[in-house]
Amino acid sequence: MQLANHHAHSYFSDGRLSPRDYLQEAIAQGLSAYGFSDHAPIPNSTVGLMSLEGLERYLVEIDTLKELYEEDIQVYKSLEVDYIPGLITMDSPYIVEAKLDYVIGAVHFVDAFGDGTPWGFEGSVENFERGVEEIFQGDIQMAVERYYTLIRAMVAEYRPKIVAHLDRIKKLNQGERFFSEQSLWYREAVEKTLTTIASSGSIMEVNTKGYYKNEIAEPYPGRWVLAKAKEMGIPVHLASDAHHPRDITKGFEFGASLLLETGYEEVTILSEGDWVPAPLKPSKLHSISS
Ligand SMILES: [Zn+2]
Ligand SMILES: [Zn+2]
Repeated sequence: MQLANHHAHSYFSDGRLSPRDYLQEAIAQGLSAYGFSDHAPIPNSTVGLMSLEGLERYLVEIDTLKELYEEDIQVYKSLEVDYIPGLITMDSPYIVEAKLDYVIGAVHFVDAFGDGTPWGFEGSVENFERGVEEIFQGDIQMAVERYYTLIRAMVAEYRPKIVAHLDRIKKLNQGERFFSEQSLWYREAVEKTLTTIASSGSIMEVNTKGYYKNEIAEPYPGRWVLAKAKEMGIPVHLASDAHHPRDITKGFEFGASLLLETGYEEVTILSEGDWVPAPLKPSKLHSISS
């Protein structure tokens, strides 16, 4: 199993408990590395989860923990940074000044309602329908394609080290309520996005949160996307997107078995500051406890 997690939220954004609580659990589970990636502040908006002042405290806290736990575990400082052109991108000054170890780039908002409120598509079915209706005149294909266009723009322009939960737009699409993943247009949108990621050098995360929260039966992204990504040589890693210390490696076994099935033999994790390959299966020479 992957002995690291690089995507986690503490009480500095929408997670529970302190970063220290996560590290104690990570050490108890024998992880080699742990990265914090609370949601970056989104200024001048009603949708931000962290203030700029909160960001300062967060950065100090993670730096303090790096030193405090130096002997026990590698601690990394990151943020999950939204891409909302005009509001926040990976080169917003306070993101650059944060001197992060890596950046997770994410699209949680697609354009905005008439009053300027960004459309967060993950909340409820009602809000999803409202966004499609009011922003895209009821055209689901246009809405979903716009989501993937934003991811491509983010990756092409900013090359975040990690691309978060690639097909998150399907969160509320259980039973293909809104669209079919088999439609030609959907597959084309995803494949085009994978092509952009493949040429960016970014790592695509395999986010297990939807699986262990029973949102969907797979990680984000799902099986066919992973198989395509493997063909294109895109590096991946497992990310629990934990919002509570009990979730720091949840779904990793399932995620790892899915990766092996789709042809992946290794994940990419941070080790002493470098992103390095780590085998998904322990080699015969080294036992898992070594
Ligand atoms: Zn996210
Ligand atoms: Zn997250």
